Amino acid sequence: MGRSLVVIGNWKMHKTMMQTKEFIQQLSKKIPSTSIKVGLAVPFTALFTASQASSSKFLIGVQNISPFKEGAYTGEISTTMVKDAGGSFSLIGHSERRRYYHEDSEVISQKVRRCLSEGIQVVLCIGETEEQHFLGKTQDVLKEQLQQGLKDVSLEDAFKIIIAYEPVWAIGTGKSATAQQAQEAHRFCRSVIAHAYNKATAEHIPIIYGGSVTVNTIKELIQQPDIDGALVGGASLDVESFATIVNFSTEVNL
Ligand code: PGA
Repeated sequence: MGRSLVVIGNWKMHKTMMQTKEFIQQLSKKIPSTSIKVGLAVPFTALFTASQASSSKFLIGVQNISPFKEGAYTGEISTTMVKDAGGSFSLIGHSERRRYYHEDSEVISQKVRRCLSEGIQVVLCIGETEEQHFLGKTQDVLKEQLQQGLKDVSLEDAFKIIIAYEPVWAIGTGKSATAQQAQEAHRFCRSVIAHAYNKATAEHIPIIYGGSVTVNTIKELIQQPDIDGALVGGASLDVESFATIVNFSTEVNL
């Protein structure tokens, strides 16, 4: 199928610079070599430390970014600043950003386009809430969020995007989607992308799963044909469990 697997840790609001350095040094030892892409979405304050410590072995990125190039936007961090500190990707539209910071589809679309035009790789996060899940609206929500997130993204730029499907009800709850549920959602997302662009593009874009991924749940998830890796929150804070998730994914990739 030709898609490379991607495992990204989302540290959220955790880890100081010192903890970041130690974590990455240990992670390097625990992952002697890997054929998959391994990334860490770190807090802004740890970005430079992380990029120095990983010395290109891991992809280092952020969890959010400004939609504006520069200017009077108190408290914001631009794509130029992220690149300057060694970041190469940004999560966009994480459900915690949508929910607690009221990011709507318009601002998410602006952030996606800002990143792509400035050479920052986008990890576009989408997913339905528990209520939407029970009302059977999962596919409608995914379609809407994908279409909005990819609005005005050229075919060429679409190739640089990673999609992260994260059912909101599975994030930080210990209640992962089953491998079958996730596979079904991923396949559906791929069909939406194929419709928006074409089949080859849809086959090329990695779609990773997030939501209570652990050393136990990764095994079945990663073996699904349309699951191309994982976005790992809680389990990425512990170097042992994150390394195990990466190493297991590497074995499956062989
Ligand atoms: P979790 O978080 O693995 O702790 O559920 C995933 C995420 O929010 O990206």
